[in-house]
Amino acid sequence: MMQWSEFSRSEKLDGINVSEIIRIGIEANKLVANGQDIIFLNAGEPDFPTPDNVKMAGIKAIIDNQTRYTALDGIPALKEAIRQKFLRENNLDYKISEISVGPGAKQLLFNVFMATLNQGDEVVVPMPCWTSYFDIIRIAGGVPVAVQCSVEEGFRMTAEQLRAAITPKTRWLLLNSPSNPTGTVYGKDHLEALGDVLRQNPHVGIVSDDIYEHITYGGTPFVSMAHACPDLKPRVVTVNGVSKAYSMTGWRIGYAGASAEIVAAMAVVQSQSSSNPCSISQVAAVEALNGTQDNIAVRRDVFQRRRDLSVAALNDIPGISCRAPEGAFYAFADIRELVANPEVIKKQVRNDKELCHYFLHTCGVAVVPGSCFGGRGSSGSPMQHRTRLWCCIRSYEKRCAAPYWSSGIG
Ligand code: PLP
Repeated sequence: MMQWSEFSRSEKLDGINVSEIIRIGIEANKLVANGQDIIFLNAGEPDFPTPDNVKMAGIKAIIDNQTRYTALDGIPALKEAIRQKFLRENNLDYKISEISVGPGAKQLLFNVFMATLNQGDEVVVPMPCWTSYFDIIRIAGGVPVAVQCSVEEGFRMTAEQLRAAITPKTRWLLLNSPSNPTGTVYGKDHLEALGDVLRQNPHVGIVSDDIYEHITYGGTPFVSMAHACPDLKPRVVTVNGVSKAYSMTGWRIGYAGASAEIVAAMAVVQSQSSSNPCSISQVAAVEALNGTQDNIAVRRDVFQRRRDLSVAALNDIPGISCRAPEGAFYAFADIRELVANPEVIKKQVRNDKELCHYFLHTCGVAVVPGSCFGGRGSSGSPMQHRTRLWCCIRSYEKRCAAPYWSSGIG
C-alpha cells in the first residue's frame, strides 16, 4: 500500500503512545493467532458477563428505538439514577446540574483536565498510578507531578508528601482509591489528613477516581474524598462509572459529580469531541444503578477468593513477593529477587520488561511490567529505578484461577 510521506505525528503526541497494557494485549493476541495458548492477566476488566437485567435493558432500548442523539452529558433518567447512587452509597448530595455522564470514566477524566488545565498547570499524582493518568494530563497541557509512595506506607501518599508536592502552579490532586495497580485503599483518617493540607491550599482541587469502590476486601472500608471531607466537596470532582462494578467495560459509561461550573465546562469538551455517550448504554446503566445490586457482593467475594489464591501462589514462587491488595483486582508483585537470581528461571533478565517478555513468550502468560505504572515522563524521580522492578500480575480471574473457582463463578 502507498504511504503518505508527508505524514508526521502532531507535537501534542510527543512521548504519548497507545497504553502499554493495550500493546501487550495486541502482542499476546498475535501469539494466539499463531496457535499458542496464552493466559491473559494483563487487561483491567472483570471476566463476568454484564448482568442479565442490564443486558435486557439495553436490548429493550434498541427495540424501543432509543438509538438517537441524547442530551449531551447524560439523559435525565441516568443523571437521576447517579444522583440517587451518590446519596445511597457515598452520602454525597449532588444536584442534577452537578452530574456529568460520558463514554467511560476515562473520558470524564479527560474532560475534567481539558476543561480546567492551562499550559503548565500541575497535577499531583501519587505513584504508582494507572498508566493513563500521565498521558491524559499531558494531552490537556498539564504537568503531572509524581509523588512516589513507599511500600512501607502501603503505597499511600502521606500528608507531608502532599504538602511538599504542592506549588503555586498546582491545580489538582488526582487520587485513586482503591488503586490500580497497588490495590491500596485510603481510609477516612488518611483522607482527612490530606484534607488538612488541602484546606491550607485553597487553589488545589481534588479529582477522586472511585472506579474500584465496590471491590474492597474488608481491611479498609472505602470512603469517597468528598464524604471524608464534606467542606471540600465544592473542590472535589468525584469520578466513577459502571465498567468495573457491573462488568460493563465495553458499554462505555462513566460519570462524575462536581460543581455545576466544572460540569458545564466538561460538557463543552464533550460537545466538541465524543458528544453524548451511547444512547443504548445509558439506558442499560440506569438499570445497572437502579436495579438489583446483588451481583456486586457475589462478584466481590469471587474476587477475594481469587486474590487470596493468587497472592499465595505468587508468594510461593522463589524470588517473588506480593502483599495482599486491599481492593481492586490486581496483584502488584515485587520481582527484585527474581531479577537478581537468574538461576531461578534459568535465564538472565535485567528488569520488569524483560521478565514480562519472558513470561509471555516462554510461559504463555501476559502480564504488565510495573514500570508502566511509574508514569511516563517522570524520569529523575528517586523511585524510578525501584518501580521498574515491580511486575504487575493483573486480573486474577483468568484461567489459572478457574479450576479452583469455576463452581463459584456460575
Ligand atoms: N480509572 C482507573 C484507575 C482505571 O483503572 C480505569 C480502567 O482501567 C479507568 C479509570 C477507566 O474506566 P472506564 O472503563 O470507565 O473508562
